Amino acid sequence: MPRVYNFSAGPAMLPEYVLKDAAAEMLDYKGTGMSVMEMSHRSPAFTAIIKTAERDLRDLMNIPDNYKVLFLQGGASLQFAGIPMNLSLPKNGKADYIVDGSWSEKAYKEAARFIDAKCIASSKDTNFDRIPDLSDLPIRDDADYVYICENETIHGLTYPEIPDTKGHILVSDQSSMFLSKPVDVSKYGLIYGGVQKNVGPAGVVIVIVREDLLPEDKIDGVPTMMNLRVHADKESLYNTPPCYGIYICGKVFKYLKAQGGLEAMAIRNAEKAKILYDAIDESKLFKCAVADPAQRSKMNVPFVTGNPDLDKKFVEEAALAGLWNLKGHRSVGGLRASIYNAVPREGVIALVDFMKKFEAENL
Ligand SMILES: *Cc1c(COP(=O)(O)O)cnc(C)c1O
Repeated sequence: MPRVYNFSAGPAMLPEYVLKDAAAEMLDYKGTGMSVMEMSHRSPAFTAIIKTAERDLRDLMNIPDNYKVLFLQGGASLQFAGIPMNLSLPKNGKADYIVDGSWSEKAYKEAARFIDAKCIASSKDTNFDRIPDLSDLPIRDDADYVYICENETIHGLTYPEIPDTKGHILVSDQSSMFLSKPVDVSKYGLIYGGVQKNVGPAGVVIVIVREDLLPEDKIDGVPTMMNLRVHADKESLYNTPPCYGIYICGKVFKYLKAQGGLEAMAIRNAEKAKILYDAIDESKLFKCAVADPAQRSKMNVPFVTGNPDLDKKFVEEAALAGLWNLKGHRSVGGLRASIYNAVPREGVIALVDFMKKFEAENL
């Protein structure tokens, strides 16, 4: 079967070049006579893989030297607990959350199990169709950090700019926008993301954290494996890391560098998103809940026909046309196209052509 256009929100498409390159090295990684899956995480070959991956990620994102880069496990969801445990529990035990969708809401609720977490702005009352009002946020003076989910995967929302945290540390879940455009790392205390959205295979979560925010290596009641200082001191090799996933991420980093880096990705992603949003706005059948163009995610594009049966028919017929995984998240229904870095422009054009055909047949 030829490769399909896969609009899954995650795990999602990876560059074909990377998959072929990994396939070619599957049985014999660079003359070691073994697969990366079979080698010790302390071997010279794997040491080179993880060091090179970190260096390439630092180059791509222009990560300042006073930030640590960690390759961990447990997905973004484990950090919903890890972040309050590391950045707040040993300090004031208070953090303020902006809730603009399901992921930030989950993170907020999880944090509230361990610290005094407060939701200081939310767009829940309008079904997360916008970023909440960020002017003059009621941040508590002794809040250890302010938390955002910068791209809400399910609702298709993104922050046009980061909020004014009034000098407080900003923590950002960038899972579904990681490496989609340049970000100024120095404006954040901690950035993290599961890689299975826009970077690599499920099983790796990347944490970029300012060194001075790392806790002591023992925090009462916090498992050693949850302690970011422990992982930072051991350079992500405290225990066996997700070796093969890190190896694939490393290949994606090299590939993105060769493609012109994050500036180039941002231009391409903006073009792809414009093609799709324009088609939705011009259509009489499809609608997008997020009205403000500046807040529309360039990675995840949710839309609806307004008729659940018609949405279902769309998903089924699209798959027959080679356009896969267009169903909206189970919590919100409707349709969603995730158009991450590896989804080619031709895929978006094929989707738009299919939408026009479907509209003509069904309106
Ligand atoms: C998918 C996603 C998560 C959860 O990621 P897991 O790796 O499955 O835990 C968290 N935040 C955002 C924004 C996501 O898109």
